[in-house]
Amino acid sequence: MTEDTEDLRPDDAFTLLADRTRIKIIRALGDAATPGVPDRLAFSELRRRADISGSGRFNYHLKRLVGQFVEETDDGYRLSYPGVRVYQAIQAGTFTDSCRIEPFELDAACHVCGGPQEAAYHDCLFRVRCADGCDAVFYRYFCPPSSLTDRDHEVILRAVSERIRRELGSVASGVCPWCCGRMEARILPPDAELPQRDNPAIEHRVLHTCDTCDGTVYTRTGDLLVTHPAVVSFFYDHGVDVTGRRVWRLPFAASDERTTATGTDPWRGTVRIECEGDTLALRLDDDPSVVEVRS
Ligand SMILES: [Zn+2]
Ligand SMILES: [Zn+2]
Repeated sequence: MTEDTEDLRPDDAFTLLADRTRIKIIRALGDAATPGVPDRLAFSELRRRADISGSGRFNYHLKRLVGQFVEETDDGYRLSYPGVRVYQAIQAGTFTDSCRIEPFELDAACHVCGGPQEAAYHDCLFRVRCADGCDAVFYRYFCPPSSLTDRDHEVILRAVSERIRRELGSVASGVCPWCCGRMEARILPPDAELPQRDNPAIEHRVLHTCDTCDGTVYTRTGDLLVTHPAVVSFFYDHGVDVTGRRVWRLPFAASDERTTATGTDPWRGTVRIECEGDTLALRLDDDPSVVEVRS
C-alpha cells in the first residue's frame, strides 16, 4: 500500500453497493463497455441508460460511487476496475442466481471401481463423482451459476474442466487463483480430520491456504501435475494434447491410484503417468515439488 491512499473498509465498500439505484448505474456503465462502443458515458446519457428519474437523486448516488467503483473523466463516467469486478459478479449471477443440474453420466470410468462417472451441479458447486455408489468424489468446484445455465452438457464440461485445470495450475505454482496471493501447501497425514475423509479417490491430500484471502483448497498430489511441463510434453510426444483432456479422465490427477508414498516423515512420493504403454515417473518431495522425472 502506498501511504497516500486510504483503504475503504470492507463494510463501507459493501454499504456503498447496497442501493438499487447504484446497482443500476454500475449495470448501465458495464453494459456500455462492449467492444467497439465507447465505455465512457456522459452524465445525461448515463442517467437515461440507467433509467433513473430525478437528476438530484441520480447525481447523489453517482457521486457516492465515484472514487471506488466509478471513475469520473473529462469525457464522462466509466467503471473503475473494482466496478468492473462488481459488474462481472452481477452478470455471472454469483450472488443471486440459483441453478441446478441433475446428475448425468459422463464418458469416463470411475478410477476406483470402474463404474461410470457422473456430474451434477447444485449450491454453486460442480461435482464429478462415481455413479455406482463407491463414494469416490473426483472434483467438487465452485462455478458461477449463470455460466452453466441453459448450456448443453458438452459446453458445460469443457468450461468446468478448463476452470479446474486453471485453478490447479495456479495453486501448483503457489499463487492463489482467486486473489493472486501467496499459497502455502502442505501434505496432510492420512489420519487428519478432514471433510470427505472417506472419499476413496483421495489418499494423499494437499491443503493449500492463501495468506491474503484465506482461501483454501484440497488437492491430490497428482492434481498438481496436470500443467507440469514434463507431463504436458510426455503426452505431446505421444500425439496427445493433455491440456484438452477432461481433468476427471486423467487417472494420475483425479485419483491416487497412480501415486505411491515412499516416505512419511518427511513425505515423499512418486506419481506414475502412463500413455501408449510408456510410463513417466515423477518423484515429489513434501513441498510438494517435482524433484526428479524419469521415463
Ligand atoms: Zn466408483
Ligand atoms: Zn487468495
